[in-house]
Amino acid sequence: MRIGILALQGDFQEHATCFTKLDISVTEIRSAADLEIIDGLVIPGGESTTIAKLLNESGLNDSIVKKSDLGMPIWGTCAGLILISKELSESDPPTMGLIDIKTSRNYYGRQIDSFVENIYFASETVPFEAIFIRAPGIIETRGNVVTLAKSRNKIPIAVREDNILGTSFHPELTDDLRIHEYFLTMAEDSHKKLENLKEN
Ligand code: GLN
Repeated sequence: MRIGILALQGDFQEHATCFTKLDISVTEIRSAADLEIIDGLVIPGGESTTIAKLLNESGLNDSIVKKSDLGMPIWGTCAGLILISKELSESDPPTMGLIDIKTSRNYYGRQIDSFVENIYFASETVPFEAIFIRAPGIIETRGNVVTLAKSRNKIPIAVREDNILGTSFHPELTDDLRIHEYFLTMAEDSHKKLENLKEN
C-alpha cells in the first residue's frame, strides 16, 4: 500500500506526516508518472487557483481524471475539495469534476476565515475537531453523493461518491487520524479489487 500526496503547492507535508504515523508509505506526486505506483491520491489544501495552474502545466490534470475513472481513491481537502468538485459558484479555478457537488470558495466569510468545530464523521459518536481555514462550502450534493458529516449550520462538510472523498476542513492539522484511516480503507479496498482482477 502506498499513498500519493499531490505536492505542487499547499500543506502536502502535513498529510504525509499523518500517513507516516499510520505506518503507510507515501510518495509526493509531481508528475503523471508518479501516479502509477500509488493506491490512493490526496489533493491537499492550499491555494486552489495556484494548484489548478500547476496541475494543468504538469499534465497531471488529465491523468488524475483518468485514474479517477479507473476507480483510484482520491481525497480532496479544502482547496483539494474545490478542485475535485463538478461545479463551482465562481468562474475560477477550472475544476476536475470528480464528484457531483457544487462548491463555493471562501464560503464561511472573511470575518471567520478560520475556526474550529466539533463534528461527527460517518456516524461516529466521538467528536472530531474540524479546522476550517478560508474553507469552501458544499452548497449542493447530487446523484450518488453521500454526506458523511455536516457542520453545525447543517452544511455538508464531508462527502463521498464511490472512490472520491471530499472534506472542506483540514484533518491533517490535528493529531486525530480517523479520517486518514477512513481513506486508507478506501485505498485498501481498491488495492484488493485490483489484485483480484490480476489473479483472475
Ligand atoms: N480558500 C482557498 C482557495 O480558494 C482554500 C483554502 C484552504 O485550502 N485552506 O483556494
